[in-house]
Amino acid sequence: MAYRIPELPAYAAAVLDTLESAGFEAWVVGGWVRDALLGSASHDVDVCTAAPWSESERVLRAAGFAVHRTGAAHGTVTVVVDGRPIEVTTYRVDGTYSDARHPDAVRFVSNVREDLARRDFTINAMAYHPERGLLDAFGGAGDLAAGLVRAVGDPRARFDEDALRVLRAVRFAARYGFDVEEATHAALTEFAPRLARIAQERIGQELTGIFATGRMAWALARERAVMVCAIPELSPLVDFDQNSPYHAFDAYEHTIRVVSGAECVTAGCAGQALRWAVLLHDIAKPETYSEDVSGRGHFFGHPELGARKAAAIMRRMAIPAEIVREACALVSLHDYPMTVQTRSLRRTILRCEELCPGRGEALAFELLNLKRADALGKALPCRSYCSELDAVSTALRRELRAAAPLCVRDLAVNGSDVIRERGLEPGPDVGMVLEGLLAAVVEDGIPNTRDDLMELLRFGG
Ligand code: ATP
Ligand code: MG
Repeated sequence: MAYRIPELPAYAAAVLDTLESAGFEAWVVGGWVRDALLGSASHDVDVCTAAPWSESERVLRAAGFAVHRTGAAHGTVTVVVDGRPIEVTTYRVDGTYSDARHPDAVRFVSNVREDLARRDFTINAMAYHPERGLLDAFGGAGDLAAGLVRAVGDPRARFDEDALRVLRAVRFAARYGFDVEEATHAALTEFAPRLARIAQERIGQELTGIFATGRMAWALARERAVMVCAIPELSPLVDFDQNSPYHAFDAYEHTIRVVSGAECVTAGCAGQALRWAVLLHDIAKPETYSEDVSGRGHFFGHPELGARKAAAIMRRMAIPAEIVREACALVSLHDYPMTVQTRSLRRTILRCEELCPGRGEALAFELLNLKRADALGKALPCRSYCSELDAVSTALRRELRAAAPLCVRDLAVNGSDVIRERGLEPGPDVGMVLEGLLAAVVEDGIPNTRDDLMELLRFGG
């Protein structure tokens, strides 16, 4: 089939040349080739070679490059060329992957095809060399063109070898907007329960990867069987009827909508803590469910219990501590009332600051994003709450400015006010007056409110 591969970066070509001049075959493999065929040459470059790792180290050092033994047991060294690291790995086939990121044992082989055959999906199992061209033994280029994630070889056998591939398939499909090929998909569903045997840290890394695609909602909706195996605590949310006028969807469907809402309200740039928080915000709803006399559902204490459960989930997946702390703070506060009243705003900032010292202000805005996303996932009449939250956001900004202006732009009055009140022409004098007002606020404790500063402009010195 027709394809065009962008030029291999010179630093990567230098590594291939050095190895091949020393008599060792070498290819670029994996993600760079895949993304290059998709028209993007931005992926980091991985090289695989017939050279044993100690020989790669020797010849690359002799060529003047820095080489680090980053994974010698698995045949990998990292060479740094022009400040860019490239992993160079000896042709190998993998043993089992029982815990960490790498297989327990590997067997080195002499043929690049064998190395490609051990890779997970056809789109990841291609090799490229600037002179020899594309080596595509499993139809990866065709699958890229067709938008398919397909296992290399027998999908059941491949998921049996390493069940993490189930989640990797979802991650690649999410990233490129691909479908999972039919037989691969059937095996995916069948082997998803095997995720229970996979190291939690590896699951955490894949989930982080799915979040990074911005399409976690798609993954939850389309690959529910996989996602509830990845996070078993999600399973009780499925079909859980909330019996509440606020909710039009079961708890799992609501979660999907909130996860998707978070991407909407942040234009696809949600932070990691917010992403985890939206996913786990209602995780304790089934456990805290109660009904009042009218038969309406309540979930007293679900934010607090949810925060504890979220912490346990994220910690076991080795998610960085600061993300766990912020995500759990958000979960615990997701129903915390916030209004435009100064007292409410100050109380929220204080509460956020208590939970995440030094991050109170940023967290308060993330909480608003979580609340907006939550509203988007509720029954239609609740969605207008978003515009109330916009007003709260504006008030919060005003409140923070009033509390601590850092520059003249943070003042509650601006240059036009100065021009009008003082009868000045636009120019440096206006700036000087604003500087004077800033000093009055910062040094003399004048409140940074429009009323106070207008008064100072009118009657002050
Ligand atoms: P990304 O952009 O996500 O890093 P990638 O293709 O570089 O994409 P990696 O997880 O870094 O993915 O792995 C590099 C290559 O190693 C993959 O392209 C794939 O060929 C192979 N690979 C990685 N993990 C596995 C696995 N569990 N089973 C089989 N092959 C794997
Ligand atoms: Mg990679």
